[in-house]
Amino acid sequence: MTVPADKELPKPSNFLRQVIERDLEQGTYAQRRWGGSPGDAANHLAGEPDPARIRTRFPPEPNGYLHVGHAKSICLNFGLAREYGGVCHMRFDDTNPEKEDVEYVNSILDAVQWLGFSWDANGTSHLYHASDYFDFMYRAAEYLIEAGLAYVDEQSAEEMRVNRGDFGKPGVDSPFRSRSIDENLQRFRDMRDGKLPDGAAVLRAKIDMASPNINMRDPALYRIRRATHHNTGDKWCIYPMYTYAHPIEDALENITHSLCTLEFEDQRPFYDWLLDALGEGGLTNQPHPRQYEFARLNLTYVITSKRKLKQLVDEKHVSGWDDPRMPTIVGLRRRGYTPESLQLFCERIGVTKSDSWIDYSTLEQALRDDLDPKAARGMAVLDPLKLVITNWDAVMGAGALDDCSAPVHPHQPERGRREFKFGRELWIERTDYEEVPPKGYNRLFPGNKVRLKYGYVIECKGATKDANGNVTEVQAELIPDTKSGTPGSDKVKVKGVITWVAAADGVPAEVRMYDRLFSVPQPGTGDKDFLEEINPDSLRVVTAYVEPSLAHAKGDDRFQFERHGYFVADRVEHREGKPVFNRVAGMKDSWGK
Ligand code: ATP
Ligand code: MG
Repeated sequence: MTVPADKELPKPSNFLRQVIERDLEQGTYAQRRWGGSPGDAANHLAGEPDPARIRTRFPPEPNGYLHVGHAKSICLNFGLAREYGGVCHMRFDDTNPEKEDVEYVNSILDAVQWLGFSWDANGTSHLYHASDYFDFMYRAAEYLIEAGLAYVDEQSAEEMRVNRGDFGKPGVDSPFRSRSIDENLQRFRDMRDGKLPDGAAVLRAKIDMASPNINMRDPALYRIRRATHHNTGDKWCIYPMYTYAHPIEDALENITHSLCTLEFEDQRPFYDWLLDALGEGGLTNQPHPRQYEFARLNLTYVITSKRKLKQLVDEKHVSGWDDPRMPTIVGLRRRGYTPESLQLFCERIGVTKSDSWIDYSTLEQALRDDLDPKAARGMAVLDPLKLVITNWDAVMGAGALDDCSAPVHPHQPERGRREFKFGRELWIERTDYEEVPPKGYNRLFPGNKVRLKYGYVIECKGATKDANGNVTEVQAELIPDTKSGTPGSDKVKVKGVITWVAAADGVPAEVRMYDRLFSVPQPGTGDKDFLEEINPDSLRVVTAYVEPSLAHAKGDDRFQFERHGYFVADRVEHREGKPVFNRVAGMKDSWGK
């Protein structure tokens, strides 16, 4: 089957798209109403038919910077909502009473927007905080107690652990499990009112201590913890457990499809148990949200653990969260990745239900495919060696400079041309000269002719060396009437074409040649400390010469340096007149080599 070239290929289906399409077709959520803001069943019942066909959410804990794994979750949740006429909620999962850092909150909002998504829909900002639901969570807990579905357990932590059993051994009922509803209610209120010390009791769901799924063996719902919460202050000394809080957050927000990573698969029965109970009790909207698990992103040569990334920053193995070698969104952005390239990457890796490692080259290829049609071209010499045209003065006149130009983009003539000079002295790559050429080498060696791209054909005459035998200068003669783009310019046939920058108008630039931060494909997974797996050569800084068009770049401008790959003007340190570039990726995949 052939596809017409002008037709955009349909996005490949995946199991999540299938689930959503099935729900839309069957009208699973079609009857639901939306109260205009998150709330209980009554709130939503009083509202209008839900204008969102589906609701998803992205629920980070504000305890670190987002990384490329989160980008997958963001693209998935916001992307699916956009695709199916839905809404994706931006929710801070701040039920842990640890200090919320504004720095993290802001960086998370920034990252989502930079990736190209928004939580505004139909004039409403769907930015929510889980801690705003504490009152409801408490009410729901009392309801569960009253329904005989929860009890206050005062076993010690150790007793609870032992009595939970394990995979081969069913659990044992707590002696507190058969307390009366009234006693449970009283003890739970005592917990809330600060009458019990931290750790003295927990509220547990009453499900089944013999369940083969350990998560269903009376999971904890609330614990006592005297801690000041950034949002609710000292109002609470009991806090909900994540497994209890998360389904409730989803239900209050009318989420339809709650997407999470595979490690939560065993939690799904409890998710459904809880929302069935609260739904039947009339507390939360029905039909309730459903949880679907997908494989988390593992990327080779990359660490995606927040804790380890923080350690890299805190211990100064990198320059900060936005170090261009970091897999954080701010790091990838500074490295030169575009939002579109990350979206493309996420689309290509797709979603599956089994964990695997994605090769880093997949990320780089998405960058190349995004930038190839967009990035302006430019010439840069990264390892400069002086080339002198010995017959220049005789042929062109002493001190003469010749005007050369090249297309900004080879396939987009409408973008115009870049101008630069050709002169007696030029910069070429050190590797473009060999005194004794290896087999198949077509560049400069004594007696060989090459074309200086967009310039002239030259014939190499020799080179000068220093006392250590290092080449300090190459000499060549220009062959007249061979300038690119002039009639007869190809009368002299050459096998090699090299890039260059004239000494007269080339501008020195700091170029940061980044490489993988870790030298093993699956860092942090073996016996070794991940810090010992850091690549000692992940950054090489060179002083390059760049053509004038590159020197006039603005921070964040991206280019293809011809022959070398993709580079970005560093968004933090690049200045007009003092250019700083980061290498994003080479021209071709070099990861396997
Ligand atoms: P923590 O260990 O601090 O809980 P986390 O990686 O789970 O870290 P969250 O802030 O809780 O971070 O994650 C927000 C969302 O991003 C969650 O829905 C989570 O499933 C998703 N997510 C996190 N890491 C990845 C990953 N590597 N691949 C795909 N999704 C991820
Ligand atoms: Mg988490």
